[in-house]
Parts: sequence; structure tokens; C-alpha cells
Amino acid sequence: MDDRQYAIETRAIHAGQVPDAETGALMTPIHANSTYEQDGPGDHRGYEYSRTGNPTRTDLEENLASLEGGAYGRAFSSGMGAINTVLNLLSAGDHVVSGNDIYGGTHRIFTQVYEAYDLEFSFVDMTDLDAIEGAMREETKLLWLETPTNPLMSVVDIEAATEVAHANDALCAIDNTFATPYLQRPLEFGADIVCHSLTKYLGGHSDVIGGALVVDDADLDDRIGFYQNAVGATPGPFDCFLVLRGTKTLPVRMDRHCENARALAGWLSEHPDVERVYYPGLANHPGHEIAARQMDDFGGMLSFELDGSLEQASAVVEGTEVFTLAESLGGVESLIEQPAPMTHAAIPREERLAAGLSDSLIRVSVGIEDETDLRDDLARAIDAALA
Ligand SMILES: *Cc1c(COP(=O)(O)O)cnc(C)c1O
Repeated sequence: MDDRQYAIETRAIHAGQVPDAETGALMTPIHANSTYEQDGPGDHRGYEYSRTGNPTRTDLEENLASLEGGAYGRAFSSGMGAINTVLNLLSAGDHVVSGNDIYGGTHRIFTQVYEAYDLEFSFVDMTDLDAIEGAMREETKLLWLETPTNPLMSVVDIEAATEVAHANDALCAIDNTFATPYLQRPLEFGADIVCHSLTKYLGGHSDVIGGALVVDDADLDDRIGFYQNAVGATPGPFDCFLVLRGTKTLPVRMDRHCENARALAGWLSEHPDVERVYYPGLANHPGHEIAARQMDDFGGMLSFELDGSLEQASAVVEGTEVFTLAESLGGVESLIEQPAPMTHAAIPREERLAAGLSDSLIRVSVGIEDETDLRDDLARAIDAALA
């Protein structure tokens, strides 16, 4: 299907997928298969070995490319597998400028894996364009950022950051996991590589780990494809099937995630026991204007500071019934967590506080349950914790 003429809601369901020619089966089969018959030595029908390529994976890769508006998609066994592949594009001596509030696993692979291979990393506040410019060096080959960021939902101007990268002949890679292509398509703003943890909204049901890269440039895709096959962090066909099943409902799920998050953010802003709410959809959020420009809606993630202690915030996250106390995000069910003792525990307290992550900060991944049930659940947990 030449699908660029169709809206994203239509492409989410159909892109990369056609009914099986032989049987008419609507859904992409799970090609549980490692090798493929060849018609003559080296004469195969597009597939020779499933690390290199698998038909279920191909459908997913085409679907993801279509959603991001890029020409090429590549799927990986995890978000980290995808991020690793971006780093494979670099060589010893290269320098990377990265956001300072990126996903913890990304920070870990940068500093604890690739510094030993002589890559150098500078971490800067990506909302400050002068800071990005100041960090660029002759050896800078990659600008890496997320937007909105975790857990304070800072918003980075993708177009402006990309311009800085390109002025320095560096690639710009955006981790688009929080926004998803339904809300934000970085390639439209000039980014070179879009990265995803498919584990989150794209899978959408907290039942699969996966990653992806989407690009629009054939040479770049060739290089990524080389490392995808050479390193081998590729997903199995069942995982690809699950993500394909997830992307079909991405638009409807995201609409509901956004609607519920907007309602909760508004309600929390008025709550007497809440100090501050971080949600880019709120007009008083520092990144609101940029988010309104580059996103189609503001997403399902929000954080808030309880007017209380670390222990009281712990009591809130332990006290909810509909919200489950858990890390991760992006599934249909609402999750709640406390960054200080959980996702951001590895950061020393002083550093954490300086970065604006207070002890009583609570992060929620707003699911698609009934909005009133979610609000009542939080209200009860907050009242009980502060009683
Ligand atoms: C979860 C996540 C990752 C890592 O993805 P995995 O699928 O867990 O390997 C990377 N970036 C962001 C923003 C994430 O939320």
C-alpha cells in the first residue's frame, strides 16, 4: 500500500500489512522460522536467515516507518538494543552531546559501556540552546535527546536542536518513546534518527520488550541494517506480532491517555496537598509553547510534587488501588512510582535535588481506565497518606 496519502489512524492499522495471498488471512502470520528454502545457491526469495530478516519483522518495520513518516524502519529486541545500534555508528574518539535528563538505561550504556570504547559524552540541559551549542566540538558526531523528558516532562525544541547538530555535521537522534509518532514525528523537524522503546506505548499492553529505529536516509539505514544483523539484537516474530497488534490501536489509546492525563493534571493543579504539577499540557509548564508547536497533544505522562515528605509520597504510591506501583509506562493500565527511591535512586540525593527531582515527586503513567476512578483513587491515597 502506498500509504502516504492516508491518515495516521489508517496507517496504524494497515501500513506494512496485506492479507496473506494464499489464504486471505488478515493478520500478519507469526513466521516462527529461522531459515528459508533457496531456489539455487544464493538465490533466495528475500529471506535467508531470520536474524537478517523475518517476514513478521518486515511488516512491523514497515508499519513503524510509516507511522514516523520515515522511509526505513528497523526493529530490535529492546529499546536498549536500538540505542546500542545508534552508538555502533560511532568510532573511538567521537563525542556525543546528550540531554542531562535522559532515560537511566541510556545514561548507563553511554557512561558504563561506551566510555570504555573511547567515546566521550557531554550531558547538557537540552532546553538551553546555548548550552547545546557550547558543548559541540569538532569531534561531536551525535546529538542525543528525549522530549518530553522523564520525570519532569521538560520539552526540547527539536527543530532548533537539530539545526545546531547539523551546523556541526553531527547526526541528531531523538528518543520518541514518551510522545509516540501519533503525537510527535521528529523526522518532520529535521531529525536524522528516531528511536523507540516499543515496550511502552507502541506495544501498549505491558506484555513485550522491543525497540526500533526509523530514518529517512537510505545510506544511514544501510549502516543501521548492517549493525542490526552483525550485532544481532533482533526481536523474535512473536514479539513483532504483539507490537503490530499494539500499533493498530495506538491512535485511540493515545487519545484516551491524553484526555485522562489532561484531566488529572488539571485536578492535581488545584489540589491543596500538591505543590506542583509537571505536565506539558498545562499553560504554566515552561515547555508548553514548544510542546504545542511540535506535538499534536501532550501525552499520558505526568509528575507532581506532594506537599509532604519522602515517606508520605511513598505512602501515596503504596496506597492506590487502581494505579499499580511499578516502573515502566505506556500500557493501558495506570502506573504510579516515586523517582527518588525507584527509577532515579542511582542519582546521589544532592544531585537529584539540584536537578529538580524532589523527595516527594510522584510520577504517573496515566492509563485508559475511567477518569473518575483514577481521580478518586489518587484522592483517597493522598488523603490517607497525609492524614
Ligand atoms: C524504556 C525506555 C528505554 C529503554 O527501552 P527498553 O525497551 O526497556 O530496552 C529507552 N528510552 C526511554 C525513554 C524509555 O522509556
